[in-house]
Amino acid sequence: MAYDPRPPIVGSRIHLDLGAFRANVTAFRDLLGTGVAVGGVVKGNAYGHGLDAILPAAHATCDVLHVVTAGEALHVRAVERARDLTRRRVLVIGPVRGPELVDLAAAGVEVVVGDAGTLADVVAAAPTLGAPLAVHVHVDSGLSREGFAPAHLADALAPLATVGDRVRVVGLLTHFADVEDVTEQRQALRQLEAFAEGERVAKQLLADLGRPTELERHTAASAAALVLPPSRYDAVRVGIAAYGLWPSRETRIGVRAVLGREIDLRPVLSWRCPSQVVKAIEPGAYVGYGCTWRAEESTTVAVFPVGYHDGYPRLLSNQAHVLVRGRRCRVLGRVMMNHLVVDVTRVASPGDDVVATLIGRDDGAWVSADDLAGWAQTISYEIVTRLGAHLPRDVVDDPA
Ligand SMILES: *Cc1c(COP(=O)(O)O)cnc(C)c1O
Repeated sequence: MAYDPRPPIVGSRIHLDLGAFRANVTAFRDLLGTGVAVGGVVKGNAYGHGLDAILPAAHATCDVLHVVTAGEALHVRAVERARDLTRRRVLVIGPVRGPELVDLAAAGVEVVVGDAGTLADVVAAAPTLGAPLAVHVHVDSGLSREGFAPAHLADALAPLATVGDRVRVVGLLTHFADVEDVTEQRQALRQLEAFAEGERVAKQLLADLGRPTELERHTAASAAALVLPPSRYDAVRVGIAAYGLWPSRETRIGVRAVLGREIDLRPVLSWRCPSQVVKAIEPGAYVGYGCTWRAEESTTVAVFPVGYHDGYPRLLSNQAHVLVRGRRCRVLGRVMMNHLVVDVTRVASPGDDVVATLIGRDDGAWVSADDLAGWAQTISYEIVTRLGAHLPRDVVDDPA
């Protein structure tokens, strides 16, 4: 690294409430009962929250941890060793190749075979594996992303005949295309039918190969686990909801309709930034690049050292508000790489030091990742996963 990576003294910080994470996972456990394993998805730097910061809570509360890369999985193992924790099941849901497979098998990490390249490499690596490799087969039931379509599954998996018992097929999964965006689940129900067909084909093939046919079946991410009970099977893969965010408005509505009650999700993350300066600008002054905002009257502005480099979307220019002293204050002009200018006329005076809440609670007021997503024409997933990995994380872990 060419520069000192210490965070600046005046800069934004992310605050993480691990008690909220634990409570969200517990809400799923209560909903699902004892027969369904709860997987926690910690891909994407734990949805931007920070993998290392989230790991203690995810490790303590989830039955399985889902990651996308081999590197993330091995990192979880390294943290377990460093902190003397017992191993959790870890499943790599993304693509894995050649040499990674040897390391993953040795580390007792499970992998998903969801594409021809991964399958070919699993078959090729089988004789070199020093430990058994547990494999979950991905059925493409209608997302057209990973997985083998049921009609092609038998042919696709035929090479498994050669792998011996170093490679063990232990699970079967699929992923839904359209649970979050709708309040009726026709497409998802079609996908469940395709998955059932995939299960039939896979079990037949395994039986023909003289292998165990007991498979852990998992299809549901957050939304399906909540609003589509037949998708719950043996395990669910909870991502966004574990962080206290709703997959969508439709899912929230669906929960009331399907469960007849509310589920309480507590956001884990807040994001705050102290001001660099609070000052007065004259009537007629412009704010920010492009001169897109002009003061009609004397205005008190706060400049905050946070911007799109840190993950505050530029699309929020002239759209968003932040909270200062418990009040909503408008973002003025363009969001810049490292700066945000906010109208604090009603709450502060020139020379004050103030703190902006970009995401989170301040007194009774609240600005959510969903609010930011709405202003930036995206979803909360993208807002939080794009928060800079460089931002310092303050973790609070109050046992609830
Ligand atoms: C990301 C992901 C999930 C989690 O989805 P959420 O909507 O965040 O709960 C589950 N399964 C797969 C395959 C995924 O890629």
